[in-house]
Amino acid sequence: MTFNKLKIGQTIGIIGGGQLGKMMAQSAQKMGFRVVVLDPDETCPCQYVAHQFIHAAYDDMEALERLGQMSDVITYEFENIDAQQLKILTHSYHVPQGDQAITLLQDRLTEKTSLRDAGVKVVPFKHVPNVEALNDVVASLGYPFILKTRFGGYDGKGQLLLRSNADLDEAYSLVKKQECVAEQFLTLEREVSLTATAGNNDQIVYFPLQENEHRDQILFKTIVPSRVDQAMAARKEVEKITQTIHFVGTFTVEFFIDKMGELYVNEIAPRPHNSGHYSIEACDYSQFDTHILAVAGHDLPKRIELLKPAVMMNLLGRDLDALESQFDAHPEWHVHIYGKETRKPARKMGHMTILTDDTTETEQAMLTLFEGRND
Ligand code: ADP
Ligand code: MG
Repeated sequence: MTFNKLKIGQTIGIIGGGQLGKMMAQSAQKMGFRVVVLDPDETCPCQYVAHQFIHAAYDDMEALERLGQMSDVITYEFENIDAQQLKILTHSYHVPQGDQAITLLQDRLTEKTSLRDAGVKVVPFKHVPNVEALNDVVASLGYPFILKTRFGGYDGKGQLLLRSNADLDEAYSLVKKQECVAEQFLTLEREVSLTATAGNNDQIVYFPLQENEHRDQILFKTIVPSRVDQAMAARKEVEKITQTIHFVGTFTVEFFIDKMGELYVNEIAPRPHNSGHYSIEACDYSQFDTHILAVAGHDLPKRIELLKPAVMMNLLGRDLDALESQFDAHPEWHVHIYGKETRKPARKMGHMTILTDDTTETEQAMLTLFEGRND
């Protein structure tokens, strides 16, 4: 199928209307494109900023076809859509991201196997299709190890840390319900991530390496630039990955660094990522801007400039409860509220980015503030 660069006023269809869809739509509209979004939640954040909204389940093929007919190009904001259905859409509509990345990466087993085959260092793992396999894992990986559901997990959902035989009963019930992958549990020194955008003609542009802290397996904060020595090593791992997996648009590779300074690839998100949100204020192009340029077939900037170091903090429901009254006193906080109808303590409701000359000092100040909230 031939495709010309998207023209002003043409339409981008987005599968998924959460905060990532919303921020994609905002970038698209800045550039003069129309946006139609498909989401099962009629109060989803993106539907209030999109030109048109299709209220349907992600796997409603008839609705996906309708999205295709209304759009000049289709993109998605999250990876747990049906890969087969996406493949069908690629036959009739322009879906530059294709279905290969989704197919490989929505399955933790093929994700890890493909990475290992690409010569990338991953944490030792085992496939756990059933309860018998779990007993083998105890013998081969040893404690502690972490069980992750093969399909459908995000923000630590579907994960179980096993420290001893005492945790096995819970593990048996998880494996009986869902196939899993087991992975050695590392003592982490740091977590980092690298966001990049792949465009036309093998163009690829990298954002600066991001340093991340997770709490309860949900991203808590991101600091840029990262205070680690592994930036070049991380770039090399991403280059190996892009030789194996075909990306178009923005994607992020998450890494672990253990106490020995060893770098491991944890997982890949084939879409804009929470740890790249700082780029909206801190870089000359945001990860959403470059994503839209890429899927619209336009050239990418030659490089991304970090205009100022930044600290990005996620705002969960419980943080919003504690911090909302303080926003007025802090004009230096760039606060983003996604517009979700229901506030829940552990739900991502927004984020804020602080541009600073001293990330360590800002980090300390933010920690004091966040520690003071009611958990
Ligand atoms: P999700 O898809 O939910 O983001 P991840 O595999 O990235 O799942 O796990 C979420 C977080 O849990 C990681 O960012 C890390 O903090 C912690 N974690 C996951 N796997 C391991 C591991 N093998 N060793 C140590 N920590 C881990
Ligand atoms: Mg992750």
